[in-house]
Amino acid sequence: MLIYVFLCAIFRLSSYTGGIAMYDYHIHSRFSPDSTSRLSAIASYALDSGLRGICITDHLEFDECYRPDHVLDIDAYAKRIAALRREYPSGPAIGFGIEIGLKDKASFSRARAHIKGYEDSLDFVIGSVHYTSEGDAYSADFFKNRTRIESYSAYLECAVSRCLSSSDYDVLGHFDYPAKCAPYTNRAMRYSDNPWAFDRIFKHLIDNGIGLEINTSVYPTQKEMLWGKDILKRFVALGGEFVTLGSDAHIVSKVGWRSKDALLLAQAAGVPYLATFHKRRPTMHRLTGI
Ligand SMILES: [Zn+2]
Ligand SMILES: [Zn+2]
Repeated sequence: MLIYVFLCAIFRLSSYTGGIAMYDYHIHSRFSPDSTSRLSAIASYALDSGLRGICITDHLEFDECYRPDHVLDIDAYAKRIAALRREYPSGPAIGFGIEIGLKDKASFSRARAHIKGYEDSLDFVIGSVHYTSEGDAYSADFFKNRTRIESYSAYLECAVSRCLSSSDYDVLGHFDYPAKCAPYTNRAMRYSDNPWAFDRIFKHLIDNGIGLEINTSVYPTQKEMLWGKDILKRFVALGGEFVTLGSDAHIVSKVGWRSKDALLLAQAAGVPYLATFHKRRPTMHRLTGI
């Protein structure tokens, strides 16, 4: 059994890289309301999978949350991540991150106030749009009586003002969030679903040095082809320089999920860099021309 685990780890490591180390910069733990994953199990799985670095990005959401009673215990969370780093001194590198739900300026200010005192130790901030004026784009109601393009376009339109409500985040998380639960046979999001919204969002990200995340949680199986090449190409054409990769794992076995495929997608779209973060400062790993 041990030999099997060892061979799996070696295989995953060698099949991943092609010269580029693999990272997962979007993982949830039991500090989020929708995960029970223990941090030690996440780190151990990442180590066995050959990941060079991970970033835990638990939810910090105000005003809109399916569990309004839940507030991130930032003190306990920070303390646990510091302890985890001591438990894994030889890696993987473990980032202290958060995922902030984007709504408006007031909501973002509440999130900022909540992490007061931890600004200097925080490594990475994901800004994500989960809700629209019609509710959570994760719920079945959001898609009722609408075609794929109608629901995706409505989400993107609503995402514009939310993305523009702050520039204090490092990447935009899961730009194709409604695809996670969409009931359509072909769930792929396309640039043509709402070019105006994509361009408006991308301009804001690029002007403020914010990157785009490729989130692999929208692919529940290994078989599905990754979409988004047209979207990433547009991001690059407008001046976008980097992406991060995130599994958005809420269970341990999804850590690192389809990271290699996401990396290949970024390369195929001509994205220049994969970014990792330390204390909110990016390190750029070249993806093209290598
Ligand atoms: Zn999210
Ligand atoms: Zn998430």
